[in-house]
Amino acid sequence: MTDSIFNPEYQNHNTSSKIIVALERISQAFKVLLWEKAKTFGLSPIQIQILLFIAYHKQDFCNVSYIANEFNVTKPTVSDAVKALIKKGHIEKKASLSDSRSFSMVLTPSGKHLITETEDFANPINTQIETLEPSKREDVFKSLSQVIYKLNQAGILTVQRTCYGCKFYDNKKGGHYCNLLDKPLKVSDIRIDCPEFDAKNTE
Ligand code: SF4
Repeated sequence: MTDSIFNPEYQNHNTSSKIIVALERISQAFKVLLWEKAKTFGLSPIQIQILLFIAYHKQDFCNVSYIANEFNVTKPTVSDAVKALIKKGHIEKKASLSDSRSFSMVLTPSGKHLITETEDFANPINTQIETLEPSKREDVFKSLSQVIYKLNQAGILTVQRTCYGCKFYDNKKGGHYCNLLDKPLKVSDIRIDCPEFDAKNTE
């Protein structure tokens, strides 16, 4: 009880606990902003997240199973959201090129228009992050990207597409290096959602 992350007295002398509570606050801000935008357009938050995911990821990823893993929700939850988006005319099904039994989702013109209206929902958080000095931003990003990779390795975050888990990542002479792009990566070049990511074999 006394050593609880959520006990303010314990937090006072435990930086890790304070970071966890701080991340929870930022996550609340993200959720609130997403909810507000969703309400404005008569959508649910997961519907907006699905639309944004489809808009910016390759077609192979835009299926119910992958999206359920991406957002750590059940397949029925994604299925229901997808059905609603199809009914509203924002997405449509497209047969997979590699597997005729499966399909992926693509945006319709109405879905593309909706993206332009909704994708700014996280801008208020961005505005505050932009006020940090570039070196501070880089430090925050460095720490967060490492925590995300470690959470993935621990089986808590199912999906991550960061350099640290990628087979093309190398640590040449102590520096970051991408063997696909064939170039060194600065900390600010480390990707958190890389289109070329290919998971390294950890066995
Ligand atoms: S392919 Fe992408 S994720 Fe992989 S190391 Fe290169 S930049 Fe990073």
